[in-house]
Amino acid sequence: MYDYLIVGAGLFGSVFAYEANKRGKKCLVIDKRDHIGGNVYTEKLENINVHKYGAHIFHTNDKQIWEYVNQFADFNRYTNSPIAIYKKEIYNLPFNMNTFHKLWGVVSPDQAKQKIKEQKEAAGITEPRNLEEQAISLVGTDIYEKLIKGYTEKQWGRSANELPPFIIKRLPVRFTYDNNYFNDRYQGIPIGGYNVIIEKMLAGVDVRLNVDYFEHREEFEALAEKVVFTGMIDQFYDYKFGVLEYRSLHFETRIVDDTDNYQGNAVVNYTDKEIPYTRIIEHKHFEFGTQDKTVISKEYPMEWKSGQEPYYPINDDKNNKMYKKYNELAVQETNVIFGGRLASYKYYDMHQVIGEALVTVHNEFATNR
Ligand code: FAD
Ligand code: UDP
Repeated sequence: MYDYLIVGAGLFGSVFAYEANKRGKKCLVIDKRDHIGGNVYTEKLENINVHKYGAHIFHTNDKQIWEYVNQFADFNRYTNSPIAIYKKEIYNLPFNMNTFHKLWGVVSPDQAKQKIKEQKEAAGITEPRNLEEQAISLVGTDIYEKLIKGYTEKQWGRSANELPPFIIKRLPVRFTYDNNYFNDRYQGIPIGGYNVIIEKMLAGVDVRLNVDYFEHREEFEALAEKVVFTGMIDQFYDYKFGVLEYRSLHFETRIVDDTDNYQGNAVVNYTDKEIPYTRIIEHKHFEFGTQDKTVISKEYPMEWKSGQEPYYPINDDKNNKMYKKYNELAVQETNVIFGGRLASYKYYDMHQVIGEALVTVHNEFATNR
């Protein structure tokens, strides 16, 4: 008998398991994949930690969360500074004075602001209602056309004017010559890879891999007092209100053996529509690797269908309304706790998932000692 059956060995499940175990609770963690870590899992190829489910850079503004993860691993000083390639032109990201200078030849921040103001006014946008309008009002039409529209429509498989504005607000717009992709105070990659963190969190906890909760639901539920569920919330309720939509990805990973440095940067975005992938990741650069060979992954977005990996929730009105109905059922459950990117149907970063898990732990153990 267990106190908790934890469905999903990703960050949410692992934080919960660690904290519950620390409080003397007995946990069983199950995952349908053949490894722990969920989407932060890394795989070693040519002695390089390969981010199997896409580039993962840890960043947070929250000192407590930063200290929390640092108890499990040391972090290096990696700072994400992707570059964008648009039809052989190279631009710095996020949108900053280097980008504006390359595009318009402007030198001072006021010149850049003026240029954006003119383009925003010409487009007649006052209250942005979708991603396209939000993007134009932040950076103007030139950047929207070259660096946003193509990438966004490949990534989401939808027109930019059907997507919610918040997606583009993830990216800073800066009137300084600063190429750091994030504004957060703390940033880095765990030395040795994310697996180090997850392995420490799950030390001493029972884990069973290659098992799908839904294939043995009753059997598993009979084993534990409570369930912590980090899978898809609509599947939990047998899709009774409909199927929540996701965007999926396909990674084409290969070892490059004729060079030790393929692209000179960890992340290179391809922003025109003609190239079918959105970015190429060169994994060694996350850890300043000096190996003889290098490993790259091309990231191809694709429509999600049942059975594929649900990477990104499509948080438009239709799906958010459906999620709300599922959540109304979820909050009434007394023996099931929901959390993480899939069960919350939210575009969470790692620090947000850890934050959500720690709040859940607090609520659970404050009322239920
Ligand atoms: P997951 O990691 O998805 O874990 C859920 C686990 O549950 C999975 O292992 C799954 O197999 C298992 N599971 C689901 N259903 C079942 C079932 N029925 N039975 C058994 N097991 C089940 N965040 C950042 O902070 N920085 C980044 O740079 C960053 N880059 C990202 C890049 C990509 C391409 C993606 C997709 C995400 C990125 N993220 C990034 C977000 C980050 O991956 C997530 O916030 C975090 O990993 C979510 O953890 P989780 O535990 O909620 O979910
Ligand atoms: N985006 C873009 N051009 C880029 C990079 C990002 O238009 O070169 C947009 C795109 O819509 C993307 C969103 O900004 O989905 C958020 O980007 P982020 O890098 O945060 O995406 P993630 O790493 O989560 O896939």
